[in-house]
This record gives sequence, C-alpha cells and structure tokens, in this order.
Amino acid sequence: MTMTYQYEQSKIKFEASRKYLAQGVASSLRAAMKPVPLFVESASGSRLRDVDGNEYIDYMLGYGPLILGHSHPALVESVHEAMLKGSTYGLQHDGEITLARRLTELLPCAESVALSGSGTEAVMLALRLARAYTAKRKIVRFHGHYHGWSDTIFTSFPSSDMKPSGAQGQAQAETRPLPGTGGQSEIALSEVILLPWNDPDLLERTLRAGKDEIAVVITEPVMCNSGCILPLPGYLERMRGLTKELGIVMVMDEVITGFRIGIGGAHGHFGLMPDLVTVGKALGGGVAVSAVAGKSEIMKLLDNGAVSHLGTLNGNCIATSAALATLDVLTANGGAVYGSMNRVAGRLVQGLRDAMAKQGKKGIVNQFGPVFHMMFTAEERVDNFASFNKRDAGAYGLFAERMLEEGVLLRPNGLWYVSVVHNDEDVRQTVAAAERAMARM
Ligand code: PMP
Repeated sequence: MTMTYQYEQSKIKFEASRKYLAQGVASSLRAAMKPVPLFVESASGSRLRDVDGNEYIDYMLGYGPLILGHSHPALVESVHEAMLKGSTYGLQHDGEITLARRLTELLPCAESVALSGSGTEAVMLALRLARAYTAKRKIVRFHGHYHGWSDTIFTSFPSSDMKPSGAQGQAQAETRPLPGTGGQSEIALSEVILLPWNDPDLLERTLRAGKDEIAVVITEPVMCNSGCILPLPGYLERMRGLTKELGIVMVMDEVITGFRIGIGGAHGHFGLMPDLVTVGKALGGGVAVSAVAGKSEIMKLLDNGAVSHLGTLNGNCIATSAALATLDVLTANGGAVYGSMNRVAGRLVQGLRDAMAKQGKKGIVNQFGPVFHMMFTAEERVDNFASFNKRDAGAYGLFAERMLEEGVLLRPNGLWYVSVVHNDEDVRQTVAAAERAMARM
C-alpha cells in the first residue's frame, strides 16, 4: 500500500498548466504542495481521487469550506435546483432575504447582513464600515492572523521578517507590517498597526495611546492560521471592553471559525459580542459566498449610501442556495452534526498524539473543535506566535508528503479540517497511516 503512489499525470498536467495559467495554480499557496500540486479527478464525501488514480482521505477540505465533505447530496440538489431557475440575475430574489434573515438568527451579533463572494471581500467591507463609522483610519491587527490578501491588510506571512518599529524594538513590541507581496501599496499598510496577539497589556497601551486614530481592531477569535491558538482567558473580553470604551470597532474575523466551531461561530461559543463579524468558507460548503454581519447601527451606513459595497455576483442564486442548504444540514436536529464532528476530530487528535509518542516524535496538536494544527516542535506549549514559529515546518512538510503516499491529503502547513462526513473508519486509517508516515521520516 505504501510508496506505490505515483504522480506522473499530475506532473504532466502541472507542466501543461504552467504554459497557460500563470504560476500553474489559481491561488499562490497551492504552488507549495509537494511533490507536485495535485490534479483532481473527482471527490466525494471524505475522499478525493487524483488524476493518477490515487485515493486520499481529505483533511485539506478545499482549505476549509467543505464542512459537509465533497458533493454532499443536499448541496448538490439545492445548487442544481437553483441553476435551473437561473444562476444570477443582478436583481433581487428570495434566497437573499432568507439567507440574510437566517444569518441574523444564527449569529448572535448579527442584526443585519451584507453578502459578498470571498473572505477577503468581507474583511475589506468590514474595515471600510469601521473606518466610515468611526471617522478614523488606523487598523490594529495581529501577528500570525490572516485576513485575506487585500492591500488594506495583507502583511508578510508568516512574519519572521517583521521589523520592530518601537524605539526599543523589544521582541514583543508593536511592529510595522511589511507588504505581503510585491505590488502592494505601502501607503495602505502605513495605517496598519501590527501587534502580538494574546498580550492584553500591550493591547491596552496601544489602544489608549492611539484611540483618536484607531478605527478598528480585527482579530481571529482563535489564531487558526498560526497554530490554532486559543485566546488567553479574558483576553477577548478585555479587547471588547477597551474597544467599546474607546470608540473603536471590534471585528471578529470568523472566516474559518464561522459555522465550523458551532452554529453561532466562535463569538457564540465564547459568548462575546463583536461589533462586526466576517464569515465565509464553511458558510457556502464549497461554493463562493461570504458575509459581514453585525450591529445595524454600523451596517446602516450601507443603507444610507455612506459606504459602498459592490460585486457583480454578490448574493447570486447559486451562492445563497448553497449557503442555505449547508446551514440546513448544520442546524438539523439541534446541530447534532457538531457533536459527532467534534468527537471524530477529538479521536483523530488523540490518535495523532499517540502516534507521535509511539514514533518518538516530539510534537503538539492544538485543537479547537473540528479544526486543529499539528506541528513537530520541542516546545512544551504553543500558545503564541513566537512559540508557533519555533516549530519544525520542514519536518511537517515531509510528514505531509509521506502522508500523501499513505493516502491522506493534508495541507503542508499543519492545519487540519474535519467534516461532518468523516467517520471512525477514516480516523482509524488516518492514524495508522500517520504512524507509518512518521516511521518513514
Ligand atoms: N480571514 C481568515 C481568518 C481566513 O482564514 C481567510 C482565508 N484563509 C480569509 C480571511 C480570506 O478568505 P478568502 O480566501 O475566501 O478570501
């Protein structure tokens, strides 16, 4: 079973692709996959088959949206039916009202909603609303968080090359963000203040000192993009209290955690009310849709035309029907799928920890429900960006490559997603594969 995997067809197609498709992939991250960016033949449930005939248990899950797994029948049917009536009108339809109402019912902080196509766009809109609402400009964001690739907020990531800007340049001080890419506006980034996350005193000092200029603090509720690190007890509450006191909008970027961690997102889970949330990924179950939701007092800047929000395909019928079908599955029987998804993820995490111990590999798995980060590291805990950066990323990349040869598809960076269709048999096979993969590292 092991080491018989060949990637010849993927290699041939990748070469062909590079002739016509700039970089050979449609999103830069995908180029990092080893030994080659895979070309897919088909996918169903928790399984994916590539063009060489190799089959994998999929924990990449399209980088997060596939919370129902691949081609879930409810999603297929709903999108098929929508398509028969027209994919997009550039006019209004009931699906938009139903979805927006549904979101206000499900997300605790949502009084009103705006629909977009991607997480990046939702974040752009949330930041624009916050700036217009406060009539201030500056954005506070955190090391290791990711909020999409717009000029407004993208910074080099992971950020080992960030330059301290504080006079003393202490290791954990405020830093000036560097552009995440060539061609990015440094002027846009000059309004971004980058802080280490989970440092409540530094946050308080920064917000108090900059309160007349700072419009918004944007945070992932759990640092899913860098180690799946939980907020320290009281940290998000302090952020909430300070932002409220100082007239700063708090945006929780729930593009990963929204509908993944529970039906009310992480803010529902933590019982904390940000002013705005952004959701995407899992909302559409694999179809492009995202939303900004929150306080009507802020959202109404869209009603009165003070803030523009545009997009040819915003609220299209395919997107709304996919989102509604996904939400139907997730909310059925009081959200029972979350219980089973979390149980499967828990067993998987335990199995991976045991496999590491058995194979003498020192490592950590940080879990937040059905999303977790696995890393090889000598650290006892990974609870901030600095300790996250001490992981052996090369060793994990090798592990991901070995796992591919064992029939398990992983993101090369260590973040795993579990869907509602992953089951105990998937876990058993995955843990056995992980043991063999580690033995061959
Ligand atoms: N915010 C967060 C927290 C994300 O993880 C991502 C994507 N990984 C985004 C925003 C951007 O979403 P998209 O890729 O859909 O533009």
